[in-house]
Amino acid sequence: MSSRRLTSAQAVVAEIRDPEIPTAAIVEMGMVNAMYEEGDALVVEILPTFTGCPALPVIVATVESELTGAGLGPVRVITRADLPWTTAMITAEGRRQVAAFGIVPPSSRRLVAEEITCPNCHQRNVALVSRFGATPCRATARCRSCGEPLEVFKPIGVSPG
Ligand SMILES: [Zn+2]
Repeated sequence: MSSRRLTSAQAVVAEIRDPEIPTAAIVEMGMVNAMYEEGDALVVEILPTFTGCPALPVIVATVESELTGAGLGPVRVITRADLPWTTAMITAEGRRQVAAFGIVPPSSRRLVAEEITCPNCHQRNVALVSRFGATPCRATARCRSCGEPLEVFKPIGVSPG
């Protein structure tokens, strides 16, 4: 085991962003399940954020090419579809990055318009427009106070209560 290789790999992976939310690192989004060495390969386990996420192949290819480019290969990226990712895995920093991109971070429970705070005017006066936004993981809403359209990151894998 060379811990130096893992430390270097963690630094490289920490810089990789979610293609759908370019301000957010995939580590902060809770998408990196584990990194370890197996034989001579560096293994990275990625959790898919939701079934059919179009960003997933991009993320897998980026992780492979960045690590290989940093001289840390051979690299094997495993997609752990058997481990359910939830929006609760997004770190506090990840939630801040989601908000910085202009998307309302996911709530800890099911999506309720009354619990959404408008990021523009900070009022709680938001109406859901559609449960389907620009991507399947987002909903579209509008603030009744300032009139701004909002994108809301839907809670995924959290308890319905
Ligand atoms: Zn507003």
